[in-house]
Amino acid sequence: MLFQLVPGQKKIKETLSQNLKNKKIPHALLLEDPLSYGGLALAIGYAQNMLCANNQEQAACGSCEHCRLSTELKHPDLHFVFPVNTNKEIKKNASSEDFLPAFRSFVLEHPFANYALWASYIDIEKKRGTISGLDLSKLFEKLSLKAFLSTQKIVVMWLPEKMTPTTGAKILKTLEEPLKDTYFILVSVQPSQLLKTILSRVQKLELKPAASDQIDAYLKTIGTQDTLREEACGYAKGSVGNALAFLKKDTDGFLDFFLEWLRFCFNIHKNNNISKAIGWIDAFTLLTKEKQIAFCAFTVQIIRQCTYLNYNLSTLTHLKPGEKEKLEKLSPYINHLNIDVFEKEFKELEYYVQRNANMKIALLDLSFKIAKFIRIKA
Ligand SMILES: [Zn+2]
Repeated sequence: MLFQLVPGQKKIKETLSQNLKNKKIPHALLLEDPLSYGGLALAIGYAQNMLCANNQEQAACGSCEHCRLSTELKHPDLHFVFPVNTNKEIKKNASSEDFLPAFRSFVLEHPFANYALWASYIDIEKKRGTISGLDLSKLFEKLSLKAFLSTQKIVVMWLPEKMTPTTGAKILKTLEEPLKDTYFILVSVQPSQLLKTILSRVQKLELKPAASDQIDAYLKTIGTQDTLREEACGYAKGSVGNALAFLKKDTDGFLDFFLEWLRFCFNIHKNNNISKAIGWIDAFTLLTKEKQIAFCAFTVQIIRQCTYLNYNLSTLTHLKPGEKEKLEKLSPYINHLNIDVFEKEFKELEYYVQRNANMKIALLDLSFKIAKFIRIKA
């Protein structure tokens, strides 16, 4: 992934390029990427810019040996650290090194992916992916050697918030006393989870939502059809990761599943609906984590579509065939008086899934709240 292909992020790209031009690259950078705006792709692209032999106008040439190896994520001076755990193949002491071939194919396939997709890719969904002390020991061993092809060594650490506390303390030491010609690029979704002492040692740059036309232009470069592109941009909310997830993911069935839940919530105190809602919640918890996250994102999107329908803003709606008819019945119940609470609650639900919270409790609690909110009519 070339640096300039990441949609949007103009300001960050300018800062990074300026740093490179002035040879003032900080030893530790933190790219804050809360919603798959392209942090990992940007980090890899920047590493390539740094390593490229013919870097002109601060853009990698794309054709030198360094570029070729960086693009394949195989440059010997470009190191990757990311969360892992044991799975069927790696039965103990899992480290990034063990998963490097999987990571390469994963990133090349999904340059804007999120953790849930990675966890499912390496089959550790039911476990907690971490960056362990062992992982860092292996990394430091590599960093203690001379650079192979370049004069510098670059470490891209994806999701540093998944470091165990001991690992965090270990990396802190390196950030305090930087190794010569060694650069760390951390890409974090939840930087607030990082040790404050780490945060004070890094240069922080926060990614922002990309404009719809920038995402559209990117989708064009990867050959997405016109109609699908428009739909995906509608779902993107500034995140190219969301747009791609929409294109890849099978969200069929989500709407019926969602409406079924709302129906149980609507009359939760009547007709045995509590037990029906509990049955629905059980079905939800059986979905894979990736699918649960996709569902939560879907609910936020769909209630927004309801308000557009409600106020006849048909130009803003992005619905699949058949969805409009189903939503027309729901839309009068979603309006300017309750849209904010719905949005907030569904976003929070996604956060709970990400944090491995007890979803049965969270969903039951939300079911009662929905029963209340949905009766607020405009
Ligand atoms: Zn090059």
